Amino acid sequence: MTTNRTFTMIKPDAVANGYTGKIIDDIITAGFKIKAMKYIHLTKAQAEGFYAVHAERSFFGELVSFMCSGPIVAAILEKDNAVEDFRKLIGATNPANAEEGTIRKKYAKSIEANAVHGSDSDENAAIEGNYYFSDIERF
Ligand code: ADP
Ligand code: MG
Repeated sequence: MTTNRTFTMIKPDAVANGYTGKIIDDIITAGFKIKAMKYIHLTKAQAEGFYAVHAERSFFGELVSFMCSGPIVAAILEKDNAVEDFRKLIGATNPANAEEGTIRKKYAKSIEANAVHGSDSDENAAIEGNYYFSDIERF
């Protein structure tokens, strides 16, 4: 199954560092349409639920704490080939390995505080979008 949607979060580091507007501008300039957006501060339970697939990984506790350390911006984005194209736009998980011009290269400092989330498959894009947005909060 392929869809034309993906899900993103601008993470607490990027919001705290004042990059929210720049990142949204990069996303729109790259051709993505915003289909839903909200500015929220996750609870521990909400962050644990979102990252449940990573529950067994060594960094899970730190990742959850980091994601609750300040507000985030969550959004559903639309574009042809959205999942793959958005992963290209954000760059590698570790900003040290991200290509020049990518969002993580420009705005992230560490493998954990890496500025943005991007879904890794159409299936997860749908699950993640549904985790944050009800039917009346997106179009
Ligand atoms: P991605 O966000 O690129 O899909 P993963 O799904 O592997 O990366 O990891 C989810 C998130 O967990 C990353 O974006 C990052 O914030 C954090 N993370 C990944 N690997 C590490 C690590 N080795 N140490 C600390 N945090 C990590
Ligand atoms: Mg991932």
